[in-house]
Amino acid sequence: MTESTATTRTSRPPLLRAMVPALAAAIALASWWWAPSGDAALMTDRALLGLIEDSDLYAVDVDPAPTVWEHYTIAQGDSLANLWTNQWQLPEAALYTLLNDPRSADILRQVSPGQHLEWRADGEGRLLALRLWTDPSKGWEWNLRSGQLHRTALTYERNLHQVAVRGEIRTSLSAALAEMPSLGGRAQAIAAEMGELLPLASKARKGDRFSLLVDLEYIDDAEGAYAARLAGFDYEGEQISVRAARFDDDRFYTPEGKSLLPGFRRTPFNSEYRISSPFNLHRHHPITGRVTPHLGTDFAMPVGTRVLAPAKGVVRTVSYHPLAGRFVVIDHGQGYQTRYLHLQKAQVRPGQEVKPGDVIALSGNTGRSTGSHLHYELRLNGRPLNPMTASLPSRERLQADELRRFQNQYAAYFDLHEQENATAVAGNGNRRDNAG
Ligand SMILES: [Zn+2]
Repeated sequence: MTESTATTRTSRPPLLRAMVPALAAAIALASWWWAPSGDAALMTDRALLGLIEDSDLYAVDVDPAPTVWEHYTIAQGDSLANLWTNQWQLPEAALYTLLNDPRSADILRQVSPGQHLEWRADGEGRLLALRLWTDPSKGWEWNLRSGQLHRTALTYERNLHQVAVRGEIRTSLSAALAEMPSLGGRAQAIAAEMGELLPLASKARKGDRFSLLVDLEYIDDAEGAYAARLAGFDYEGEQISVRAARFDDDRFYTPEGKSLLPGFRRTPFNSEYRISSPFNLHRHHPITGRVTPHLGTDFAMPVGTRVLAPAKGVVRTVSYHPLAGRFVVIDHGQGYQTRYLHLQKAQVRPGQEVKPGDVIALSGNTGRSTGSHLHYELRLNGRPLNPMTASLPSRERLQADELRRFQNQYAAYFDLHEQENATAVAGNGNRRDNAG
């Protein structure tokens, strides 16, 4: 992250001075290359380059979260290039690396609707692996390690099936799920998904009842499930009662089509502030040539500016880091997380629930920062996204056509529960018709 060899340090000041005019002409671009160090010579150069007002010039993962495999089913009209850069926000460089291999280019050119893609990136947005299933049991896997591409043919016997499990909380959901063999050893992953959807850490109570619909994938004759994904859930508890299922867009909706994650503002403040340093996963250090990603968007703003929650969520972390300064991390559910660095003061506590527009902090200039600004990060499943261009959950509910499709998809699941509820109510002499 920082240069530490004596050679680099002694050779740097003349180089920096030579570059000052060029940098001054391109402040927005220049703000990223400063490698932080307490070194006295570097401080002199920092003063020289006082024009550069922003500079969290390092990739600091203040609160690392594991990244997960992302899934996508190719739809009619999809273009890989468009999905890659716009929808998934993966670095173009990785796509070029793939397409530079003629055989890989050939395979990827023939991607067709209905085929399934899976990919995984690291906490700095770099692609680690990609899988393409050309049919349910055959496909290709590409692994990228330090820029090197490895291609493997996949020939698994894949079995996909859906299971429904139900139970009651005694200590925690994960403990309850751990006792269920039908989950193929994937109880922890399912409990984690549920934890993203509902604030179970604080609101689950003994005696709460749940029923889950889970998609499981087995390959070859392996004992445990290869992958598991929550498709739907019905949670009835003392503090929370929610029923929802996963739709095409990978987000969860209630049977009436109401989104569990509505309304996500583009920026976490009122008014407008200049972007002093944009999100950039592959910016290069002009001297070392190393990639030093900028994982968020920097907004130049006066110290003390009110920072607002862009969506509802639960505060995960409030802490201090020598580089990031005072920082706040908020979980918004369904894998979405936002982070706020270089704050003057946090106005929230870990575990606190926030609504859109709630004041969460005052912006500042703390940590390794040379000018007052807010560094704002948006992450999905641990992976940094460009907060200014990412597709944000914004719709409150499914529209007519979508709602019909969604309700058809889960008719059996939703109906089953309607019937059970009706039966339960009937026991109280209060029967109502099962409308479905
Ligand atoms: Zn920044």
